[in-house]
Amino acid sequence: MDFPSKLIENAVGELSKLPGIGKKTALRLALHLLKAETDTTATLAEALAKMRFDIRYCDTCHNISDTAECSICANKLRDHSIICVVSDIRDVIAIENTGQYKGGYHVLGGVISPIEGVGPSDLQIDSLVERISAPESEIKEVILAISPTMEGDTTAFYLSRKLRDFAEVHISSIARGIPMGGELEYADEITLGRSIVERQRQAK
Ligand SMILES: [Zn+2]
Repeated sequence: MDFPSKLIENAVGELSKLPGIGKKTALRLALHLLKAETDTTATLAEALAKMRFDIRYCDTCHNISDTAECSICANKLRDHSIICVVSDIRDVIAIENTGQYKGGYHVLGGVISPIEGVGPSDLQIDSLVERISAPESEIKEVILAISPTMEGDTTAFYLSRKLRDFAEVHISSIARGIPMGGELEYADEITLGRSIVERQRQAK
């Protein structure tokens, strides 16, 4: 792609480094900013820089936060006896968006992956164990909400081994089954099999 201006070329080059943004989209965004008020670009640049430099992670659950304690950990109305363990901050956002969960979280920061050289010590696993074993801990249930990939399953298995010494803490994992709107005949055998084995009794 040839550009009439080095300045546009640079901007397009930087924008197209972002995931999901190709050169064409990057050019569209750059031209959009050129047409908009100069304030738009200044505000955007400032918001991005501020996010990048000022963001923090919650000392307790490692969720993204503006302060040392995130808004979920600080919320007294939530049930802090339950912790939902997820691999990534995006999972917290996804679960929060369901509006169905009112407990706390623990963000691991990834999954165990020998291929990518990620071991248990690279993840927030020790801090999870510390949270549960702290004398003031009120944790009664840990929900393992980790994606059912090979690495995810390895991580969940590792965690359940690590947590099984806490006899008073119930370990559960999220249900796996047929997605809403999914057709049974198109479900893979493992998912369909699990859905039958882990069926739920209907309330009468
Ligand atoms: Zn937190």
